[in-house]
Amino acid sequence: MNRQELIEELSKIVGTEDVFSSRRDVLVYEYDSTPEAFEPEVVLFPANAAEASAVMKLAAREGRVVVPRGAGTNVSGGTLPVKGGIVLGCSRMTGPPRIDTANERAVVEPGIINLELQNTLAPLGYLYAPDPASQKVSTLGGNVGENSGGPHCLKYGVTTNHVYGLEVVLADGQVIHTGGKVEDNPGYDLTGLMVASEGTLGAVTSMTLRLMRSPESIKTMLAIFDTLEDSSNAVSDIIAEGIIPATLEIMDKTITWAVETSYHSGFPLDAEGILIIELDGLRDGQERQAEQIVEICRRNHVREVKVAQSDAERNNLWAGRRGAFGAVARVAPMYSVQDGAVPRTRLSETMVRVVQIADKWGVKVGTVAHAGDGNLHPLIMYNPKDREEVERVHKAGKEILKLCLEVGGTLTGEHGIGVEKQDSMALQFGPDELATFALVKKTFDPNGMLNPNKLLPNQQAAAGMGV
Ligand SMILES: Cc1cc2nc3c(=O)[nH]c(=O)nc-3n(C[C@H](O)[C@H](O)[C@H](O)COP(=O)(O)OP(=O)(O)OC[C@H]3O[C@@H](n4cnc5c(N)ncnc54)[C@H](O)[C@@H]3O)c2cc1C
Repeated sequence: MNRQELIEELSKIVGTEDVFSSRRDVLVYEYDSTPEAFEPEVVLFPANAAEASAVMKLAAREGRVVVPRGAGTNVSGGTLPVKGGIVLGCSRMTGPPRIDTANERAVVEPGIINLELQNTLAPLGYLYAPDPASQKVSTLGGNVGENSGGPHCLKYGVTTNHVYGLEVVLADGQVIHTGGKVEDNPGYDLTGLMVASEGTLGAVTSMTLRLMRSPESIKTMLAIFDTLEDSSNAVSDIIAEGIIPATLEIMDKTITWAVETSYHSGFPLDAEGILIIELDGLRDGQERQAEQIVEICRRNHVREVKVAQSDAERNNLWAGRRGAFGAVARVAPMYSVQDGAVPRTRLSETMVRVVQIADKWGVKVGTVAHAGDGNLHPLIMYNPKDREEVERVHKAGKEILKLCLEVGGTLTGEHGIGVEKQDSMALQFGPDELATFALVKKTFDPNGMLNPNKLLPNQQAAAGMGV
């Protein structure tokens, strides 16, 4: 089937208006939050599982690859149509969430934006815990694809801890249902397998998510330190004392400067490290826990601890933190975001060594981290037109990744593998583990039609596809 015939057949399934094929219309689907771009053959937007299934069957029959896509905010090249084919956008799958507070579950469609769900739940006194900093734009389907984390994931766990069931369209168009509203399900944990699979095993068309009651009380503190080591040591000391705040975020001086000059959140420009610490839960005992935290910060030579006095003050602090990635445009026109995760006891040492690596390669780095769970994002800022600098950025990035592994961490805390880190998988996993991953891929997608050339190193990806 040639391209025109394909477009006509796809239009019969999802409707002419929801099939994009002109160069102008597909342009924004050629890239994601990474600098690369690849042209897809066609972009389309099914309304439900039945349409997605018909698309998948046609694609399988006609030998076209399919790339599921949410908002395209992943920062690992996970939605790049590297082999062309069909981009399956989820932005029409946004039916009203079916909220079941009695069972603390919501059944939702994948195109819903994370923050929209939170805004629907808040008046009911509930929340959905995973809260990526991209929550204003990223979709729940994309959050599942990447197993997204966020500030609240220190206390409540990442996306996989909050997904109880999925409806998934497989590569051959078959629709399967995994899990449901109950806690326990017999058999293989297919729900768990799908989360973080980056669109390589199926397209999710519905999700059963866990809801939680909104906390009775929230206390947000800003702790200001004169050295980065003191701020990160305070993080491990807080957790070591048995206190698990809802969030424990760190920003270094470069990031704080960029954020403050953009958002005016009230961060000091001369601090080397600042922590945003948030306690949530019952009002009883919270004050005492806050005092304990202040005491731990003092032991780590804190300059000052401020407590947000109102919702407006709290929101202001978070606006700054959530805007950190965008704010670094004040430092350089482009950044390369690293996403290592290290044991939190090694955070302090890792952050210091990141600065040393940046100095070694002569690049500018600023680090922001979900410090409580050891997930750090060193942002290497650069001028993309300077090819020589770009080279040094890549080298520094690779060395930071290796550092994270050396101290017992992982390749990614939450941004996924995509194409950016697929070859680095061999640094973390041995041949046997990679071969097992490839077998899983082959079982679900024997012909390698779903989001190909992602997640697994190319050799393993090829092995998994039997080519
Ligand atoms: C400024 C900024 C801040 C960020 N902060 C965070 C953060 O705090 N925490 C965090 O975890 N991430 C963060 N990210 C990364 C990104 O926002 C998340 O990975 C997010 O979950 C991606 O959602 P999306 O809708 O954009 O998905 P996309 O980027 O469109 O897709 C992500 C992956 O999921 C797959 N996918 C999408 N939809 C489906 C579906 N329906 N079925 C199957 N697979 C699917 C895609 O194929 C792809 O592999 C940030 C990104 C930016 C740009």
